[in-house]
Amino acid sequence: MITKLLIANRGEIACRIIRTARAMGIATVAVHSDADADALHARQADESVRIGGPQASESYLDGDAIIAAAKDSGAQAVHPGYGFLSENADFAEACEAAGLIFVGPPAEAIRAMGDKARAKAIMLEAAVPVVPGYDGENQDPGRLVSEAETIGFPLLIKAVAGGGGRGMRRVDRAEDFSDALESAVREARSAFGDGRVLIEKLITDARHIEIQVFADAHGNCVHMGERDCSAQRRHQKIIEEAPSPFVDAAMGASMAVDAVAAAKAVGYVGAGTVEFIIGADRQHHFLEMNTRLQVEHPVTELVTGLDLVEWQLRVAMGERLPLEEEEIDFSGHAIEARVYAEDPGDGFSPQTGPVLLWKPALRAGEAGVRIDSGVEEGDSVTPYYDPMVAKVVAHGRDRDEAVARLVKGLRERPLFGLRTNRGFLIDLLTSREFLDASVTTAFVDRWVAEGYAARLTEAEDWHFGVAACVLAMRGGGDWFRSTGVASCPILLASGGTTSDAVVEIERGNISAVEVGEVNVELSDLAITLDQVRFSLAGTRRYATYLAWERDLWLDFDGRTFVFHEPDPLAKQADAADPARIVSPVAGLLRAISVAAGDRVEAGQKVAVVEAMKMETTLAARAAGTVRAVHCATGDQVRVGDLVAELEPQA
Ligand code: ADP
Ligand code: ADP
Ligand code: MG
Repeated sequence: MITKLLIANRGEIACRIIRTARAMGIATVAVHSDADADALHARQADESVRIGGPQASESYLDGDAIIAAAKDSGAQAVHPGYGFLSENADFAEACEAAGLIFVGPPAEAIRAMGDKARAKAIMLEAAVPVVPGYDGENQDPGRLVSEAETIGFPLLIKAVAGGGGRGMRRVDRAEDFSDALESAVREARSAFGDGRVLIEKLITDARHIEIQVFADAHGNCVHMGERDCSAQRRHQKIIEEAPSPFVDAAMGASMAVDAVAAAKAVGYVGAGTVEFIIGADRQHHFLEMNTRLQVEHPVTELVTGLDLVEWQLRVAMGERLPLEEEEIDFSGHAIEARVYAEDPGDGFSPQTGPVLLWKPALRAGEAGVRIDSGVEEGDSVTPYYDPMVAKVVAHGRDRDEAVARLVKGLRERPLFGLRTNRGFLIDLLTSREFLDASVTTAFVDRWVAEGYAARLTEAEDWHFGVAACVLAMRGGGDWFRSTGVASCPILLASGGTTSDAVVEIERGNISAVEVGEVNVELSDLAITLDQVRFSLAGTRRYATYLAWERDLWLDFDGRTFVFHEPDPLAKQADAADPARIVSPVAGLLRAISVAAGDRVEAGQKVAVVEAMKMETTLAARAAGTVRAVHCATGDQVRVGDLVAELEPQA
């Protein structure tokens, strides 16, 4: 029996697990780092134990501290969620050694599948097709080059211990192989402490399709159908759906047979996902098995009506699987979109800041929408962890209805205080390619490269007009009382645009709005606490707004703009000065590669900042000599912090 469960994770997945545990009558213990002392998951659990400093390595990756917290609090089991220690076989073993149930597969199964090379060998043995390539022990660069030539280009170099899309390099031409190999090995060493790589033929026009499997300790193993996760940016999933519009019944059945064979081949117990890659020839090849609950498990829950966390906990308590294969029914279509704290307008750079407005609760009449959020209004997104803040998931009778509900769910839910990819998700979900289900794993990167960022709309005159009206009406007590016409000039900037607006107010009502030289046809304005209603050229519309410090956040149907009064001490000038190398993100300074007195070339790497698991390279913008270095490796830097100064070459 499990009566008390420790959740060794944070964010939305910790909250998700707490929800099911509570429904099952199981008490919950959260763990938190110093950065998460007030985080949502720590507030939602019955108890929360501090386990260490803000860096994941000092807290959520500290297995000993987590096991001590479990023992001290009297929990009988540990649920690892995904990421962090979820696929760490040593941690699973340490839990068992401490007399705790690890809610996951046996350590041996994790170990077998955690090594991509070993996993492929086991799959070949079990007659599961794998991607052709080289996964041998011999890591001599000369040998790898000759293997690469045999496989042919394009190909992929992958970290044997990899995960989360890291340590992977696509190579298109033989002459690029050695450089790519070097950098893949470097990244694999630093990210996974293991520089071994394997080489695979690159499947072009590929779909990523995966099968959810579930096994118990009594020899039963079922599958729960597929998920299509082909919408990826840089090998990271952003939208997932079930069923896959690409897979037909025969293909689905054949993948399911292979997935169950894969699980059985390693003595699997619990929830697992077998990932396949499929090319234009519609043949599936095993990619890897994720030995944990997957980020995108909600789409399977919505089409099967099952609670996968409940199944995990039942299996962990030694029960048999609640259902047999024939008893698992599928209905309708489900799609999930991952909301990230990142700015698509600025190279998807990770964002930090306060969550000022965010209303994940369902709205009156809303159907088929589920939101798994890791944050609430009043929380902050810090630079220490994964930038995913929530998942918005929708279910419908068919794909069109699921898309419609998801898009509407996203449109109606602005998040203010930091930038997110929400507008990007809406654009992707409504793109022709997504709607005709022709998205392959290469699509999103190509779409972005072909100018998605350029298409991110700058605020138009009427957006500026609404912003100016909100400011005029909020700040304008005197104008409202005046009997004549008051003219209220407002200078506003948003993104790269600055506009001069004049709002005319006649007896408390807005009578005219001019932005620059343009007369904007705005009328019938009314504002409430967080909404502004207006008529634009005769059509009545609504926008959500929030004024915070010097910013006015405004969301028009999923498109968020931030307006502010232009700052005369233009920070941009600072950032453009080649003599000053400043951090564009808040994060941990991973490396400084120069010292005072060094000569640098334009474009040369000066430092690396890690924020939310992403590395950002700071480069010199001009050739010159390093005048001073103001930070050291290991420092925490804020946006705009001066890292180094140069004496640019005359
Ligand atoms: P999936 O195949 O389910 O997308 P990945 O192999 O990409 O899974 O790994 C899961 C991702 O979630 C990783 O990028 C991992 O680092 C990240 N992650 C881990 N813990 C959390 C968390 N608490 N909140 C959000 N993301 C997390
Ligand atoms: P990770 O452990 O980082 O999730 P995977 O092996 O699952 O690594 O690969 C991640 C993604 O990279 C896949 O979903 C797919 O989009 C792409 N990918 C991996 N291997 C191949 C391949 N051989 N050909 C084409 N794309 C691939
Ligand atoms: Mg994967």
